[in-house]
Amino acid sequence: MEIYSSHINKLIEELSRLPSIGAKSAQRLAFHIINMPEDQVQALAGAILDAKSNVRYCKECFTLTDEEICPICRNAKRDHKTIMVVESTRDLAAYEKTGKYEGVYHVLHGAISPMAGIGPNDIKLKELMVRLKDDVNEVIIATNSSLEGETTAMYLSKLIKPAGIKVSRIASGVPVGGDLEYIDEVTLLRALDGRTEI
Ligand code: ZN
Repeated sequence: MEIYSSHINKLIEELSRLPSIGAKSAQRLAFHIINMPEDQVQALAGAILDAKSNVRYCKECFTLTDEEICPICRNAKRDHKTIMVVESTRDLAAYEKTGKYEGVYHVLHGAISPMAGIGPNDIKLKELMVRLKDDVNEVIIATNSSLEGETTAMYLSKLIKPAGIKVSRIASGVPVGGDLEYIDEVTLLRALDGRTEI
């Protein structure tokens, strides 16, 4: 028996596709949206569509941005010879919030995971190797300390080291499996300062 109208069911179904939104949360959100003023719903739907059609990858670091080259890569004051490799734009944002990192980034958009069938060609690895043909002093690997993040770090270091570039890994202290995004700034800075060459 259908409890709700098909329109509500459709909304619940779409919302439940989002990460960490279970059936109950999807219902709660759906009813919240239905009770919102019309203009707020329009603004929400518009923002989703706008973001989807206007956001793209930075041509250099592959972070999500509105422009061809993101503001970090465009900034001549940043140290373009130090590249921090992160899994996602959210991780980049976490380091940027500390305001202490002066290098640039490279966003992989994922990590190698043989279990999930994600190989080196499924993330922005080739793109990183192209960047390393320029003058680069150090690559700081700041992938998560999950199994996938560690696998990616090992793979990267084996790939980069023969090029004679210094490769370092952020210090542990970042909780295992913890998304960098949720870690406080002090912990992030400590992990960065305590990085070791691998
Ligand atoms: Zn960029």
